[in-house]
This record gives sequence, C-alpha cells and structure tokens, in this order.
Amino acid sequence: MMADSMPPMLLLPVDAAERIEAWGANWGLFDVRLDPTEDLAVVCGIWRREDLRWPARAKWLTGHYLRYAGERSRVGTWYHTDAALYGLHQAALARSLAVAPSALRDAVLGGWRIPPTDRSMPVMTWASDVNGNPVWSVWWVSHDSAVPGLMEVVSDSSPLSYLGGAWPVDELGSVSAVVIGVGSIGSVVSETLADYAVGRLVLVDPDRLLQHNLVRHRLGPRDLGRLKVRAMRDLLKERHPDLEVEAHPLDVIFEADQVRPLLSGVDVIVGATDGVASRRVVNHLARRAGVPAILACVLENGALGEIIRVRPGSGCLLCYRSRLDAEGALDPEPELDQEYGLGSPPLPMTAVAGDLAAVGTLAAKAAVSTVLESRGRWAQRLPGDVAVVGLQPVPGLPQPFDVERSSEVRWVDLGPSKSGCLTCAAP
Ligand SMILES: [Zn+2]
Repeated sequence: MMADSMPPMLLLPVDAAERIEAWGANWGLFDVRLDPTEDLAVVCGIWRREDLRWPARAKWLTGHYLRYAGERSRVGTWYHTDAALYGLHQAALARSLAVAPSALRDAVLGGWRIPPTDRSMPVMTWASDVNGNPVWSVWWVSHDSAVPGLMEVVSDSSPLSYLGGAWPVDELGSVSAVVIGVGSIGSVVSETLADYAVGRLVLVDPDRLLQHNLVRHRLGPRDLGRLKVRAMRDLLKERHPDLEVEAHPLDVIFEADQVRPLLSGVDVIVGATDGVASRRVVNHLARRAGVPAILACVLENGALGEIIRVRPGSGCLLCYRSRLDAEGALDPEPELDQEYGLGSPPLPMTAVAGDLAAVGTLAAKAAVSTVLESRGRWAQRLPGDVAVVGLQPVPGLPQPFDVERSSEVRWVDLGPSKSGCLTCAAP
C-alpha cells in the first residue's frame, strides 16, 4: 500500500548507535524530540530493553535546534533484526510504500512489542550487512501499517573529513593563520580559512559587534554587543569542532607589543583592518616576524577591492604605495580613513556585504595558496602579488586601478623593496 505521507526524518547520534550495537540486547526503548512542523526527530536517550536509560551525546547535538525547540518527546522501540528487513526498508522507501507490521515482527530477533496506540511510533532497526557493518533504518509503525522513514546516523567527525583526497586537509590542519581585523572582510576571511581546513586561527580585533555592523558582518543579532573575536570563535567552532581558535581583543596599533608575539612562527597573516595606519602596522609587524601577509581592503568608496601580498624578500605596502605615487597614480589610502574608516554612523557605508565577502574570500584563497606554494605545490602560485578587483567600477582611475568591469580581477607586480623603506630595512 502507498504510504499516506512521508513520516518524520530521524537523526541518531553515532555514540548511541554504537552503544546499542555493543549491548548485545535484541531490543530496547528510545525517546526522541520531535518537531511536527519540520517532520524531524532526534534521538535523545536510549534504553537497554526497558531498564537502563542512557542519554544520547554528541557535539553536534549540543548545538542542534531540536535540543531546545522540539515540541514533545515520544518513545519508540529499537530492534536487532536480520539483514533482509533492511533490504525491505530500502525498497519500500524508494517506492513510498507502507508494509504490514507483521513484516517487522517476523524479522526481529526477539521481543516484538505492538505499538500501544493508534498513533504511529518510531521503530529503529539495526542489522549487520554482508561485510559485518551495522546498517540502521527507521519505520513509523501503527496497528495497521509500517511506513519506512529517512534516517541518518550522525557522527562528530569534522565536515572536512568528507573532502577525502580532494584537498590537502591533513597538511593544512597543521597550518596557523592570524587574522588581524575581524570586521566585514575579516569575518569572511576567518570563515573561509576554516573552510579551507586551516587548523589554527588567531583572531585579533578590539571591537564589539554593534547594530550597524550587522548588515555586513558574518555575525548576527544573537551576538550583538559581544567582542567580535569571541563571537566569531564560537561561530567557527560550531561549524568546525576540531578547529583551534584563539580570540585576542587587541588593537594592533595601540597594543602592538601584545600582538607581536602572536605572529611568531605562524604560517600566514591576513590584515583586514580599516584604516591606513593599522594596515601599515600589520605590514610592518609581518615583515619583522618574517611571515607572509595578505592585506585586504576596499578602495574608492567601494569601487575596488585590493589584495596585497607582502612576503619576506619582496617589497612591502609602503614601497608599493610610494612607487604608485611616483608614477602619478592616486594614493587611495587616505580614502580609507575618511570614508571607509570606522564605518560608524553618520559616515556612509561605502561597500556592500557581497562585495566585501568577495574580497574576503579571495584574500583567504590567496593566503592558503601562499602557504601551499611555499610547501612545493606549484599549481597554487598566484599570478602576482597585488590584485585589483572590480566591484562597482568607476571610469577615469589611473593604472592599476582602472579596472572597468565588475568582477574583473587584475593581478600586478608588487615591485622590489625601495631603498630607505623603514619596514623593509633590516632592523
Ligand atoms: Zn618596504
């Protein structure tokens, strides 16, 4: 018979699944929190038969919305069955078919309990497949029918583990990156570095999340008023439980002495601060620490994004700006302080969140590529050390800022160290 409607999906923490498999009992009870509007249920506790309840534990369950939002709990029964029932479940699920409850009763290895009410109750079954691996399924059973449902046994393993050999996850797991400035660009940089499997992030920013930040920041209203570095650490850990995150509410200009030791021995620094002075300080500290740095910002009232990579042995931000100045190109940095600046009302917001995210994502990509290239992965080398990104291009800007198309990315050379540069000079 056709199932009347799709029953709820069921999530089972792997810890509970393994405990049941190890018990050696043929049946037991379990309870779920159920959200009827989402048709979703999560297993919260398991019993060996009916005499020992064990709470289901998992890191992902701690943060799951149903832990607090589920409307009611319902008790179900789990059974150890023969493997043929799993095959029947898969076939019936694919065709949206219900079966008679007797099909389950005949397959369980003892202790069949008839559902006590006309309401459908969840019945989890597990069996060993031909390779001896456990396979799980759920049925929603009433007096007259058993409807197969979707079920997932959920582990706490990092989502990055699913990338397998497609990306050097293990290699990047030992990489440390510092993000200085965790605002609209830096929050995207942090998230993207974590998504790229960088194993350790050090976040540096003294500011708190204010209402006017929300339109452009990865953090949301639930973190209003918090220090950005701490709220960002929590957000990152939620998505990447194995990620190591340090949160330092420090000002890179006024507390440079405390920032300096955080930079020694790291693999890459990303500077995503507002303002000319702080970018110059990041440029200087990175050079002194002998660590490559990626500086990311938005210029000309949001017209352009700019990414500058400063590596030991190359020129630096100051050398590059001074060369542009000598060539008659604009010095765009004063704009940073006047317009982009603190971003606090009544100063206008000059760039939109999507454009800032594009720059942040590219900056994180450049940071990861820089690390991978330095470890011999030549395919990860960048086309240049400076990228100018067209966001809301305006005509008439001098080279190299004269990109005229949205989404155009122009890579140019940074150039050599300039004699007399105090940052590039040996200390
Ligand atoms: Zn220099």
